[in-house]
Amino acid sequence: MKIVVCVKQVPDSAATMSVEDGKVSWGDAPLVINPWDEYAVEAALRLTEEQGGDVVALSLGDENAKEAIKHALAMGCSEAILINDPAMKGADTQAVARVLAAAIQKIGEVDAVVFGKQAIDSDVGATPAMVARLMGWPAVTLVSEISEFSGGTLKAQRAMEEGRQQVEATLPVVLSIVKDYGEPRYPSFMGIRKASRAEVPEWTVADTGIEVPPALVSWPKVMEPPARQITNEIIEGGSPEEIAAKLADKIMEEKVL
Ligand SMILES: Cc1cc2nc3c(=O)[nH]c(=O)nc-3n(C[C@H](O)[C@H](O)[C@H](O)COP(=O)(O)OP(=O)(O)OC[C@H]3O[C@@H](n4cnc5c(N)ncnc54)[C@H](O)[C@@H]3O)c2cc1C
Repeated sequence: MKIVVCVKQVPDSAATMSVEDGKVSWGDAPLVINPWDEYAVEAALRLTEEQGGDVVALSLGDENAKEAIKHALAMGCSEAILINDPAMKGADTQAVARVLAAAIQKIGEVDAVVFGKQAIDSDVGATPAMVARLMGWPAVTLVSEISEFSGGTLKAQRAMEEGRQQVEATLPVVLSIVKDYGEPRYPSFMGIRKASRAEVPEWTVADTGIEVPPALVSWPKVMEPPARQITNEIIEGGSPEEIAAKLADKIMEEKVL
């Protein structure tokens, strides 16, 4: 079995984002593997541990993306590929999806492509569905459990705010994984050493067999959300009962309840 897991390099979730002249900046925040992609790597590794096979970590990005790839290798992925092409600067989601799909086709004989549910820097959340569409494979998103992955069939559970859904699909399949799937493992010491020595093959877009896809969507301007107007009021009183009664009146007055 061969599984491809797509990983993206993003600014640390503790980074403070600011917008200057319509451009996004994360200052000098460290770059890390997209946290949702750690769940994807975990799911891919568990599938191959149960049934044998290889997990290939795939990333589209610049030199910095090697850190995300090395993290995936340290967790246990057997191979990795970086698509590093300066012509992809300013790419939109469909361009990213086209290049990832072409790379997956080049890897060949893949049983599943596993994604995180979204990238924490741009939050588009559409890459898995777009890749599935381009491959002509089913997309099963927001997966929290995989109960069967054999004989050409996937049985999985999807987790949504409103409930859970049992899904069956044919293989090969594109999956996106959510937190409920289970805690991602920490990279082992041996894994970190292996990853630090790994030579990661680099492909250009041309190496995947397609031309650089033009972006169809642009983000001409990015704004910070409008500041919320918040006022505080301290309720005074001679006793906790008096303060509570005043608070209850206030809540009813403001029609909060
Ligand atoms: C500064 C900045 C400017 C941007 N400008 C534009 C713009 O002008 N127009 C526009 O449409 N978009 C723009 N984007 C969005 C950018 O192209 C997105 O990275 C792309 O659309 C994918 O969407 P996403 O990162 O939200 O991924 P999502 O769809 O949220 O990610 C889902 C999953 O897809 C996988 N994935 C996503 N990206 C990669 C990758 N590169 N390599 C491997 N796996 C990946 C990961 O598993 C991830 O968990 C910009 C992004 C940034 C940070």
